[in-house]
Amino acid sequence: MSTRGLVVLGSTGSIGTQTLDVVRRLPGRFRVVGLAARANERLLARQVAEFAVPYVAAECHAPVGARVVPMEELVRLPGVDVVVVATPGTSALRATLAALEAGRRVATANKEVLVAAGALVVDVARRHGAELLPVDSEHSAIWQCLRGEDGTGITAGRSVDRLVLTASGGAFRDLPIEELSRATPDAALRHPVWTMGQKVTIDAATLANKAFEVIEAHWLFGVPYDRIDVVLHRESVVHSIVQFVDGSSKAQLGLPDMRAPIQYALTYPERVAGPIQRLDLGRIGTLSFAPVDHRRYPAFQAIVGAGRMGGTYAAAASAANDVAVELFAGGQVRFTDIASVVEAAIAAHDSTQHPTLDDIVDAEQRARAFARAWLARRVEAAARPS
Ligand code: MG
Repeated sequence: MSTRGLVVLGSTGSIGTQTLDVVRRLPGRFRVVGLAARANERLLARQVAEFAVPYVAAECHAPVGARVVPMEELVRLPGVDVVVVATPGTSALRATLAALEAGRRVATANKEVLVAAGALVVDVARRHGAELLPVDSEHSAIWQCLRGEDGTGITAGRSVDRLVLTASGGAFRDLPIEELSRATPDAALRHPVWTMGQKVTIDAATLANKAFEVIEAHWLFGVPYDRIDVVLHRESVVHSIVQFVDGSSKAQLGLPDMRAPIQYALTYPERVAGPIQRLDLGRIGTLSFAPVDHRRYPAFQAIVGAGRMGGTYAAAASAANDVAVELFAGGQVRFTDIASVVEAAIAAHDSTQHPTLDDIVDAEQRARAFARAWLARRVEAAARPS
């Protein structure tokens, strides 16, 4: 067993800390070469001390014993085998491309990078022979189901008919639709099954998260949008399903614990015994499935539609969603405004056919400005006496 050199981008977030927990529980398998974090100075310092990390990319003070380098340099350091991308938004877009260009294996938990720049990222990975592996539970499930079939790398082969992503439905899956406009940020953050970061938990409640995952699946596995479905599955035990041309389906099951897909990406192609609790189907009893109610989740179709339109439409949708989620979390706009502004931003957006990195960054900036202005008008209108 050789030791793998690891870089974790976003080490103090939800996926970052769970990644380091996997490392902690598999002693001798990994060396942490570098960590990147934005805000949580104290936690970063503890991580640097615990894992004897020589390099960090941080916007805060350098923890004792570590050297600060830019994120794009961190991923290219000698001895780095795997780069875990667990940063929010597209802050790690350039670092992800740099890692792939350097031939590093990239395990990505970040959705926005592939949503905004899927064509670019997949192309760079292909040209540099670098592996791009999913950490998201749904995509890890699909990847595991595809292993041993006829694709190349993680790309689906001709034997695959459809991908079926499962969705928990988020915090408001049982709330009467007419009450959604009054739903609070606190309630949105009470996810029924998964423990995740704030942004992704709110995205789970609007199902924007699942729309991003459809786009992510399209790029990771090379499957057209009309062959990717979503099904609601309350228990989050079946993590996703692959249907084959012979009518057979494969699903991957496990308890909802993000450390399972993280560990799989880190130790691949090996499976190793780790901290993950075993599934006891007899105790779970029932697994339920239902179609998506699009009246409850209007953001879902809007964002998948943006993905189908190509160009920078998905980047714009994601950026507008980002702005809206932040304002909703701060109590400034309503839950239902999130989907409304995403729809408006897509309708107002114009895109080039084959966007460059600069086009993508520009599209995101335009969509952010649009969303801020649109939501400000909405807040003003709501405050005006009628
Ligand atoms: Mg997911």
